[in-house]
This record gives sequence, C-alpha cells and structure tokens, in this order.
Amino acid sequence: MNCLICSKCNRKYDLFESVWMCICGGFLDIQLRVSFDPETLKNKPFSLWRYREVLPLHPDAIPVSLGETLTPLLPIDISGQTVHFKQDQLFPTGSFKDRGSAVLITHLNYLKIPSVVEDSSGNAGASIAAYSAKAGIKCEIFVPDSASEAKLLQISRYNAIIRTVNGSRKTVAEAAFKIAEKTYFASHYYNPFFIHGIKTWAYEVCEQRRWSAPDTVILPIGNGSLFLGAFLGFQELKASGVISKIPKFIGVQAKCCAPIYKAIHPFCSVKLNDCQTIAEGIAVSDPPRIQQILSCISETGGDLITVSENCIKKTLQEKWSEGYYVEPATAATIAGVTLYVQQLTNDEQIISSFTGHGLKYSKPLPNSH
Ligand SMILES: *Cc1c(COP(=O)(O)O)cnc(C)c1O
Ligand SMILES: [Zn+2]
Repeated sequence: MNCLICSKCNRKYDLFESVWMCICGGFLDIQLRVSFDPETLKNKPFSLWRYREVLPLHPDAIPVSLGETLTPLLPIDISGQTVHFKQDQLFPTGSFKDRGSAVLITHLNYLKIPSVVEDSSGNAGASIAAYSAKAGIKCEIFVPDSASEAKLLQISRYNAIIRTVNGSRKTVAEAAFKIAEKTYFASHYYNPFFIHGIKTWAYEVCEQRRWSAPDTVILPIGNGSLFLGAFLGFQELKASGVISKIPKFIGVQAKCCAPIYKAIHPFCSVKLNDCQTIAEGIAVSDPPRIQQILSCISETGGDLITVSENCIKKTLQEKWSEGYYVEPATAATIAGVTLYVQQLTNDEQIISSFTGHGLKYSKPLPNSH
C-alpha cells in the first residue's frame, strides 16, 4: 500500500493525511509502488507532468503549474571532457526547486491546506512562495539575514510574508519549525512530496539519453533534496527495469561548510563553519537527512568533493565570461565537476546541473575571504 512512513519509528500514515512530521518527531518518507513504462509517455505534454503517473498525487489533484517545461541537457567542455548540465536554472522561479514545489503545492492544494511556512536561504522560499501564490495559499518564509537581496525581493513580490532571522541556517530552521506546529511545514528537505517532485530530474535525464543511465551524477548538497530526489528517481527507474544501473553519486559542498565530508572523514582536520560561503544555496551545516545522503553515496560507490571559496569565485567569473549566467552554488558544483574530471583515468558519462540562475545573485562578488 502507498503510504507515508516515519523514517525513525516506521509508523505509517495515510498518503493523503495532512501531516508533515511523525508524532515521534521523525521526518516522513513515502512508501510508493512504482512501475514505470516509457511507452505510456506517448502524447504526453513536454513538461514535468508527463511523469505524473509516478508522482504520489491523488488522481483528483489538479496540477498547480507555472509551466514546468523539460529542461535542456547542455554539453559543456570541462577540462577536455564533455559533461552534460541540466539547465534547471530555466525553471519559472529560476532554480530546480520548482520541481519539488510544483508537486508539493499541488498536493497541499488538493488537501485544501490554507497556509504554509518554509525556511530557506532564498531559492526554496521563492519557489514555494510562487506556487503558493498560484494556488492561493498563504505563505510565510523564514530566511537568514544574509540572504541575497534579489531572492528576498522575489519572495516578497509573490506576496509571501518574510521573517528575517539573525543567525545560522539552523536557527532559521528552528524558528520556522516553531510556527509550523500551528500551520503546515512546506519544507523542501523535510517534506517527502517535495523530494518526489525532484525525482523527475532523473526521469528527464534518462529520457533525454534514450532511457539509459549515465555513469556518474555530480550534484551540490545543501539539505540534499536534489541529491536524494535524483537518487530516488534512478532507483525507481532501475526497479521498473527501464535502466540497468544506478549511477555513481558524487556530492559537492563548500570547503567551509561540508558536514557530509566531515561525516565521511571523521578524523580530518577540516573545520566547519569557519567562514560564510558565497554559495548560499548549499550553506547548510546539519542537513536532517544526512544518513540518507551518506547511504546514497556509499551504495552507489560515490564520494564527496569540497571546493574552496576562491575556486567557487574563479569558476563563477569564468562561467559568466563564457556566457553562462549562474549563481554561486552552481559555480561550486561546476568547480566540483572540474576537480572530479581532472582526476579521471577513464572516460565517464557525467551529468550535473545548473541549479540556480545568475539573476538571483545581483550583488558584487566579495573581494576576499
Ligand atoms: C537549494 C539549492 C542547492 C542545494 O540543494 P539542496 O536540495 O538543499 O541540497 C543548490 N543550488 C541552488 C542554486 C539551490 O537553490
Ligand atoms: Zn515516528
């Protein structure tokens, strides 16, 4: 049976119950029986909704959509090797988060949830705010006071209420959590409907590659919704017999905020949080789903790459000068891809992603760190 299941105590809830957390405090996952056949996609629209059959939505749920078109898989030369980057910065609000928000808000709209709260460094907030606006759901977003001006403006222009919190992402999350007790936590990392929306990334990648999986996937990790969503998609495709292997999953984090690296290398001397990374999209010091992220890396024979602030800045300026307008978290990802490619001894088919648009980062680059 399809249902919500607690990650901590295995308690089950009806898939369409309006809970966002188990009574034990654990976060929820979705137990979903998926059997996917690419043949069923014929005559379906060229959007995220062509994969609706594998989404955990009620048959009567009407899509809350801003036009989630399929994104190009762009080949770019990285140190002499061709790497394909999914152009997810082209989504309606300028980041990949729209995959998750479209599906989550469609579900909440079906449940007639009147108001939601979310915490975010900016992009998830802007995305949830946009889809809430489309659905007519009241929306409150908690952000750190370090968030980009452009992102804050975007959130407020969708008429969401912004609550600025002084402190780390953790402090911001805790503030949102308190309010969420009385409303609904439309969280991009807590809520499994969001992560199931993200899994369409893997379906698209495989369809664009004529239903074959790449060797390697390299993605940034903040809270891990992209990483885990993509993994989930590949797992379902493999279980359905559409692809024969799950790619190796390589995560990228900023050197000064790399909790996953620290968990894999507990005895390393790397200090955490000794600087504020300019890659604000991945500045998360304790992702709640860390155990799932670690299993994904070990099950797929993956790894975690860290990139320095200088390297992020250099990559950002280099990509801008080549015509690619991305934000710092995406530059961090590209920097990670570059490091990975440079140590390769064989050819590998590698897929990565442009996660956020450059228009999101309108301030000048800081001079030094
Ligand atoms: C959110 C975000 C990330 C990190 O995604 P997580 O799901 O938090 O791991 C990376 N890049 C950009 C541009 C983002 O907005
Ligand atoms: Zn529980």
